[in-house]
Amino acid sequence: MSAFAPAPLKILLLEDSKFDAEFVGEFVRANYPLARLDVVDDEAGFRDALAQAAAGQPYDAILSDHEVPGYGGPQALDHALGVVPRTPFIFVSGLIGEENAVDLLKRGATDYVSKNRLSRLPVVLDRALREVAEREARERAERRARKADEIYGRVVDALNDYAVILLDRDGVIRDWNRGAIAIFGLAREQALGSHFGRLFTDEDRAAGVVERELDAARRNGSSSGDRWLRRADGTPMRADGVLTALRDGDDEAGEINGFCKILRDGTDAYENAAALREAKDEAERANRTKDRFLAVLSHELRTPLAPIATAAEVLEREAGVPPQYAALLPMIRRNVALEARLIDDLLDLTAIAAGKVTLKLDRVDMRQVVDAVLDMVKEASLEKRISLTSRWDAARATVRGDAARLQQVLWNIVHNAIKFTPEGGRIDLRADDDGPRLRLRCIDDGIGIDRASRDRIFSAFEQADGAVARRFGGLGLGLAIAHGLVTEHGGRLEADSPGPGQGATFTLTLDTLD
Ligand code: ADP
Repeated sequence: MSAFAPAPLKILLLEDSKFDAEFVGEFVRANYPLARLDVVDDEAGFRDALAQAAAGQPYDAILSDHEVPGYGGPQALDHALGVVPRTPFIFVSGLIGEENAVDLLKRGATDYVSKNRLSRLPVVLDRALREVAEREARERAERRARKADEIYGRVVDALNDYAVILLDRDGVIRDWNRGAIAIFGLAREQALGSHFGRLFTDEDRAAGVVERELDAARRNGSSSGDRWLRRADGTPMRADGVLTALRDGDDEAGEINGFCKILRDGTDAYENAAALREAKDEAERANRTKDRFLAVLSHELRTPLAPIATAAEVLEREAGVPPQYAALLPMIRRNVALEARLIDDLLDLTAIAAGKVTLKLDRVDMRQVVDAVLDMVKEASLEKRISLTSRWDAARATVRGDAARLQQVLWNIVHNAIKFTPEGGRIDLRADDDGPRLRLRCIDDGIGIDRASRDRIFSAFEQADGAVARRFGGLGLGLAIAHGLVTEHGGRLEADSPGPGQGATFTLTLDTLD
């Protein structure tokens, strides 16, 4: 049984001799037991059978005698080719001669078998059927490939934002999608056939960049990068793209038969990024200048204050100041001290911004720091009839830090709490553990802070709002300095508040020792 006929075969046989028909039939059945053989013995029967075949009941093969009375083999062949051109047509006949056979094959017959050698029939039939199967498989594959090509073409064309450019192995443009037309402002007809070096700037071309890019893709499979290209109108375009080598077949080792360049117009993004970089550099430069200016200014302002303070003190102590002016000297001293504090803040701030704070690090018992600060603010809290309480629940109190600076930080926080809490309010200072760290919280029931200002208040010269600033004064430096100092200590300083009018909590967290 034939290996190439898994499904029952349908064969049409044109044969006027009953005997020969039987004979051929036996041969067919012997090799294809399930095959159906329709025998017709004249032109009318043959035409009928072909008409039905064309209408949807096709034959797998047609076998035909060479001479049927009144109907020649070549005519039958022509007729079959006209109606069912894809069905193999095999002559099965007596002697037809070499020349005749060649003619028939040229005319379109698939093969011929002599009735004397019908044993060849299965071989010939198998080959014919195999050819049909192969042809159909090839056509299916071609259809699939065409479909894939079509989809590829549509997808590539739909990529309006991407230029997809196919090049041959020398870099000549062979395909140019819609994205390329839009990006380069160059029509397809103008692009095709020209070398893709035309897209590069004159300098890059002269410097051999085009060849280098092709070489890199040849060597590494692809080469990607950002560079300036030229649009058709000569304007520069920042292209962000990749050039990929295309090889014969699927094989990595296949010969390179071209390249695919895919790129995007990144000019806007590039220019925006460049503008942003420049603006940032400029801002940083301006900021550094400001820091330098503040540092110099503060220093210069601070210097004359000491002699003024000393002079006022000497006058107060030793000069006989008429009683009506006696109050002026302490006033001068107080204001000089205030001025000195402001300037010290500015100096601190500029040192922090420049990363030049030097901490005198030591073991610091934070309980002592808290006590010292409570002492310092006692008077102010009494004046405003604020209840100032404290509670120590932390297991560890020792941190590594600069005692004076930590005191400055805590003083600033508690001082603010008193400043921003109305008369008769409450402030609670609590210490507890935050894992291995010490957490100090200053909780007040004062004016609170709105959400938007919460992080801003740690920046220099920032205050929660203008009205607050006018009412309470201050430069907005204290928290910036405190935050900077806490960061220098490797700790954290955070503000929290349920909202305006609902109090604020400042939390200072520091690593502890042992
Ligand atoms: P200054 O007190 O000089 O304005 P700070 O840096 O110490 O500067 O504080 C910045 C801002 O943070 C204050 O102006 C205020 O708006 C807000 N603030 C600080 N502490 C509190 C607090 N306990 N309650 C409400 N707002 C506060």
